Amino acid sequence: MRYVSTRGGMPPKKFSSILLGGLAADGGLTMPEAYPEFDSAALQQLRGLSYRELAFEIISRFADDIPTADLRNIIERTYTAGSFGSDEITPLKTLEPGLHILALSNGPTLAFKDIALQLLGNLFEYTLAKTEDHLNILGATSGDTGPSAEYAMRGKAGIRVFMLSPQGKMSRFQTAQMFSLQDPNIFNIAIRGVFDDCQDIVKAVSNDSAFKQKYHIGTINSINWARIAAQIVYYFKGYFAATRSNAEQVSFAVPSGNFGNICAGHVARMMGLPVRRLILATNENDVLDEFFRTGRYRPRGTDETHHTSSPSMDISKASNFERFIFDLAGRDANRVKELWGKIERGGGDFFDLSGGSLWEKIKDFGIVSGTSSHAARIATIRRIHEQYGVLVDPHTADGLKVGMEYREEGVPLVCLETALPVKFSESIMEAISHEPPRPAGYQGIENLPQRYVVMNADADPVKTFIAEQARNTGEAGTFEEYEKVVR
Ligand SMILES: *Cc1c(COP(=O)(O)O)cnc(C)c1O
Repeated sequence: MRYVSTRGGMPPKKFSSILLGGLAADGGLTMPEAYPEFDSAALQQLRGLSYRELAFEIISRFADDIPTADLRNIIERTYTAGSFGSDEITPLKTLEPGLHILALSNGPTLAFKDIALQLLGNLFEYTLAKTEDHLNILGATSGDTGPSAEYAMRGKAGIRVFMLSPQGKMSRFQTAQMFSLQDPNIFNIAIRGVFDDCQDIVKAVSNDSAFKQKYHIGTINSINWARIAAQIVYYFKGYFAATRSNAEQVSFAVPSGNFGNICAGHVARMMGLPVRRLILATNENDVLDEFFRTGRYRPRGTDETHHTSSPSMDISKASNFERFIFDLAGRDANRVKELWGKIERGGGDFFDLSGGSLWEKIKDFGIVSGTSSHAARIATIRRIHEQYGVLVDPHTADGLKVGMEYREEGVPLVCLETALPVKFSESIMEAISHEPPRPAGYQGIENLPQRYVVMNADADPVKTFIAEQARNTGEAGTFEEYEKVVR
């Protein structure tokens, strides 16, 4: 399997060479040259496999330059009952015949991002050990990716994580998830500012190419191909759990932000999984719904981005969307380049496919969409709780709300659960007037000792801090500087 860029400017590369990278050098996203295909006989062989076996069968098609035994070992260490609550990893909960929730949020941080990031942590560590290299991961979080990234990378050899977050702006639960980690390779940096300030610092550091090279700065953003590959697995798992035979079709409802989750569903469908519809749900930030309804894609600026009660979907520029357009355009990289040329200037720019030949083809891809709102989300949480005795989080509620609008007689609907309600107690209180239950192990995490440093919204102190920590590589007592400023 070789990987190319959606903009055509990258010589084909192997999986291991794109694993640690972000964007391709030409600004595009990496994609497999062709998708592996599973016909009915091949699907039959996958049906009945355990999650770990299924993960190996699928991921090995994409990561085919990692020796089989090593990849098997990495997958077996990643998808354990210890980390994900059960050997099912992503159990299917049936609300009523034909209506299901695929539980993707039983990993260490109680959000679906763990499924990909836990694997990434092990893949990064493995690859860095082979090349005797190391990586300083720099990220910004408003509360969601941060915990998943830190839990994925904690204790990993050759990796440090520097995670910027806006001081005092995350929920107490999310803050505690990150700041209570005591692993010496995890550095929480609380910035006196808002999330955008954190992101600007990450950009400023990444744009300093000399610094970036010297200190091996990397990211784990949502455009990493390995994350998509890992997410494909649970579409297969959900399909098999919801059907008896491969003659049946299933529709999936997917709460969407960066188009990462649903992109994996799209790839699964291209690989031959009998998916009828992929139902894309947005919150009030409806950039993607607008595209699938009208053909117009208009990314928005931060000033047009709403802060909602499903905050992990507060995204106005869907970073993985380019992968879908690449397929829609029949893998014509020049067309993708031309389209993104129109929107990368920013400031209200858009492209519009309506009326053109690409728009005619869109129905072949099975994606339909809808938008949810605060009121709809709260009503859905309440209704699902009353009707089925099941409590869902606000993001999953958006997926259920839009999914139900497209539900069809005789087609099982699988709604993807992207987080557990405990992370969003305010909305849960509003919907059902009592606190969400806490899974075992999360009682009182707000009271654990916390470890973080506070800095002004400025790239320089962050760079200095990274440089200081990098000098301290691997020696005992090296984190004194850090410990001094934490409580
Ligand atoms: C990240 C996230 C989403 C959005 O997923 P994308 O891959 O960005 O589309 C939805 N819900 C939750 C809880 C998330 O953390």
